[in-house]
Amino acid sequence: MLRSELSFTEAVQVCVPFVHDIHSRWKVKHSEIAETQKAHSCQKGCGACCHYGLISSSSLEAFFVLTHCLGSGQTLSGLHEASMTYVENFKLACSEWGHLPFAKASRLAFLKKKVPCPLFVSTPLPDQPYSGHCGVYEARPVICGQFHSTEAPKKCEELEPHGTESAVIDLGEVAGHTLREFERAQFGKSALGHLPLIFAALTTEDGLKAFLRRDEPAKPSDADPHAQETLDFFFYAELLGCLGISLGEADFADLERAQAE
Ligand code: SF4
Ligand code: SF4
Repeated sequence: MLRSELSFTEAVQVCVPFVHDIHSRWKVKHSEIAETQKAHSCQKGCGACCHYGLISSSSLEAFFVLTHCLGSGQTLSGLHEASMTYVENFKLACSEWGHLPFAKASRLAFLKKKVPCPLFVSTPLPDQPYSGHCGVYEARPVICGQFHSTEAPKKCEELEPHGTESAVIDLGEVAGHTLREFERAQFGKSALGHLPLIFAALTTEDGLKAFLRRDEPAKPSDADPHAQETLDFFFYAELLGCLGISLGEADFADLERAQAE
């Protein structure tokens, strides 16, 4: 019988070595591929993708980033303050169109607001509107390396399709899937959503408690083959609730638009 929750320390002991191992393997393969692809264009200093309104990460990877920040001397209260500033800016930006940015039009509108990931270190340059670098580069989630470009960064700034290495995408998908299966095995659920919001939720007492809680995993059946995905989605909604964000009709409508794109 599973205990109903883990302590923070237990979660660190269980999760950190696993995520670290998966990340290390992913990064070795990622750099091997980048090495052979001279056209690989992502460079330190280019950060449009760190201003996206949808940076898909699991709650496990957000927890890993949190432990990395705490391990490097930052305080939970400091991280909470910075994250909640982001949340307020995020809400303010979204208030113009009234829902979270899922579909391309709203993601583009969000990008133009220039709200950087709270883990991003901005270096404003006149000719590079999104310049800066990742403040947690060694611990950044898989998606942040998976979403690479072999073409000019301008395409990322316009959310236009850009060249990618399919091997990098494929390896990232396997790594992300492995991490989510691990999280489900440990905690019964795994939120997938916007990294800065999940990260912010984990800096709240309720959000961290929800992450550490061990839920009964869903049992997919013929009648409901997506029961686990539903449970995961409810968990994401619960984390958003810790930030005062509740999903409504307009959010689901934009999500549907995104799924149809
Ligand atoms: S994915 Fe695009 S925006 Fe992100 S670092 Fe690479 S080129 Fe820059
Ligand atoms: S974690 Fe780092 S690389 Fe990923 S979006 Fe945030 S600042 Fe960018």
